[in-house]
Amino acid sequence: MHAGSYNSLLVLFSLLVAMLASYTALDMAGRIATAQGRAAHWWLAGGACAMGIGIWSMHFIAMLAFHLPIPLGYDLPITVASLLIAIASSALALWLVGRETLPWRRLAGGALLIGSGVAGMHYTGMAALRMVPGIYYIPSLFVLSVVIAVLASGTALWIAFNLRRESVWVRPLRAGASVVMGLAIAGMHYTGMAAAQFPIGAVCGAARDGMDTGWLAVVIIVVTLAVLAIALITSVLDVRLEARTSMLAISLAEANQELTYLALHDNLTKLPNRVLLEDRLEQAIQGATREKSRFALMFMDLDGFKAVNDAYGHPIGDQLLVAVARRIGANVHSQDTIARLGGDEFVLLASVSEPADAATLAEKVLSAMREPFQVAGRELRVSTSIGIAMYPGDGELQHDLLTNADAAMYHAKALGRNTICFFEASMNANVHEQLQLVQDMRMALERRELTLQYQPKLTAPNGPIVGVEALVRWMHPTRGLIAPDQFIPLAEKTGLIVPFGDWILDEACRQMRAWRDEGRPEWTMAVNLSALQFRHASLIATVRDTLARHALEPCCLTLEVTESTAMRDADASLQILQQLHDMGVRISIDDFGTGYSSLLYLKRLPASELKIDRGFIRDLSRDTEDAAIVSAIVALGRTLNLNIVAEGVETAKQQEFLTRLGCNSLQGFLLGRPMSAENLIESLSNDNLLSEPVEEGTIGSCYDAGYLTPHYD
Ligand code: C2E
Ligand code: CA
Ligand code: CA
Repeated sequence: MHAGSYNSLLVLFSLLVAMLASYTALDMAGRIATAQGRAAHWWLAGGACAMGIGIWSMHFIAMLAFHLPIPLGYDLPITVASLLIAIASSALALWLVGRETLPWRRLAGGALLIGSGVAGMHYTGMAALRMVPGIYYIPSLFVLSVVIAVLASGTALWIAFNLRRESVWVRPLRAGASVVMGLAIAGMHYTGMAAAQFPIGAVCGAARDGMDTGWLAVVIIVVTLAVLAIALITSVLDVRLEARTSMLAISLAEANQELTYLALHDNLTKLPNRVLLEDRLEQAIQGATREKSRFALMFMDLDGFKAVNDAYGHPIGDQLLVAVARRIGANVHSQDTIARLGGDEFVLLASVSEPADAATLAEKVLSAMREPFQVAGRELRVSTSIGIAMYPGDGELQHDLLTNADAAMYHAKALGRNTICFFEASMNANVHEQLQLVQDMRMALERRELTLQYQPKLTAPNGPIVGVEALVRWMHPTRGLIAPDQFIPLAEKTGLIVPFGDWILDEACRQMRAWRDEGRPEWTMAVNLSALQFRHASLIATVRDTLARHALEPCCLTLEVTESTAMRDADASLQILQQLHDMGVRISIDDFGTGYSSLLYLKRLPASELKIDRGFIRDLSRDTEDAAIVSAIVALGRTLNLNIVAEGVETAKQQEFLTRLGCNSLQGFLLGRPMSAENLIESLSNDNLLSEPVEEGTIGSCYDAGYLTPHYD
């Protein structure tokens, strides 16, 4: 037998290459596991090449380290074949490691296949020597070498699989594992070499026409190191890139989430907004249809919220809304949806089995809302009006349900606020009716259907008349006389109030001119301004032009603005009022006592008159609290030097009481109903008696009747 010997430097190199190849393999396995789509294929192909070349060159360098006392050479095609076997085995290994799971069966099968592959590569590589006679392998060592190959492959697979994900310790762990794997691969090789016996006299068939071994060693070492280094560097760069990409992806996902949240929620209360509500409503409809269950859609609107906002400003109003949202939330089930549609409108979507359950739930919310709210050290009170639509029954589509719940809510408000109201089909008729009314209203001016009535204002207790208040009426061609309460809010909503208001002012001034010419120069004319008119840019010019047109002095015109209108956006209001005041027009604060005027603000108002709201006068004799409020308002007016008018005086008792409290002027059915200009003059000539005294209690119906039928007292 020829005795072989080894070049120890090359042996060391072969070991290093084996370890480096193992490390590269582990690294590649990690790339394949985390890469996606096409990238994973490229990593598999590149990784298999790098790893295959690594293992193969370990084997080949070790072969070059081996010396026999005869010339050696390697057959090129067989050598290439052994390289291909190495690459194929590596590809199989990497593919296995890249799977989601690695069950024991697959691990064992993989180890067997790859182990045989590595052994195959080795013995094919040996065959490239083309020894004649052939190499004799000692069977036990041969088997041992294959067993080592299989065991090493199994261990490598297992380690690679478990170290494929990136983590803090993965690099040192991989380094350790690649030392073990490198030793195992080399062990297999050198065991295989120990099994090989070269008979004396054997010659290497590839020595002459095969490749020369000297420079081959250098080339292979350089190429292999280059391949492995490139593979590793690419991998490290890719890990960094991937980390950056994934960080970007995370922040992108977070931003996306935030945007989605913002798009679906109300900024202030963090409740779902209309978009999300509509989506939930759609789901609720589908769910209820499928499961034959029911749900209730409740439309809630706060009563008295505007007054709070006007009085304390938006920041306090906002805090109140947040507190309201929280309180509603505390009184419903967590799976129910509460949404805010903007302003003081909330919607509750609740699954219930019976309308009675919906009523119970709504009552619960209602009574919770009645409790005062503590906001910024203040105690604020609001109540709620709730309209309820049931599914199925009150609409098939989400839009219908919302519209119907809304209609029911308006009904609840009309019923006197702080109450609940279920939807009924007749409420929709109301909507159509209103639409029709708006259409008719557009023609009203052209058709000269508006008229003014005048209600006298008297010096307390019995006169004389100091002026009149102009109150508009609409003579509808088919519905008869319509009271302002029934069309002024609609005219406000549609903007028609502006041309209406211009006409009213002009007509009132025309009438005043006529009275002056008839010899009543002391009467002043009061004209009501609605919120929209008050804010309209042309107000000042219109007032000035109208007065000029009728050659009237500004001081004979009083403009009545409600307290809540004057309080809304206090600074802007103040500016408008100041301009009117500077012009010489008098300002009266109407419906006083219903808002939340602060004394400080009131002091700055250039007003000359306060009109105590009718609500305080009604129960004056019975309600001591109202009496206290009226006397407080009177006292306030006195200190601010304002004329105090009590409106809605219906009984002699009220007349006497208000006079005693110190009101300067009185206005009411007792002293004169609103009437046409001719009737006013006529009743004056009738013994100065404007109307019969009316008994307390009978007024309500008279008043109501007064809305619908013209009265020519
Ligand atoms: P307002 O300015 O508070 O007008 C007083 C209302 O009380 C009038 O109702 C009047 O008829 C009624 N009234 C007068 N005396 C008594 C009484 O003794 N008892 C009772 N229960 N009521 C009395 P009207 O004319 O129906 O007007 C209602 C509201 O409509 C007015 O309240 C005002 O806010 C608005 N309005 C009326 N005319 C005009 C107008 O020309 N322009 C604008 N923008 N609004 C108007
Ligand atoms: Ca008024
Ligand atoms: Ca009033």
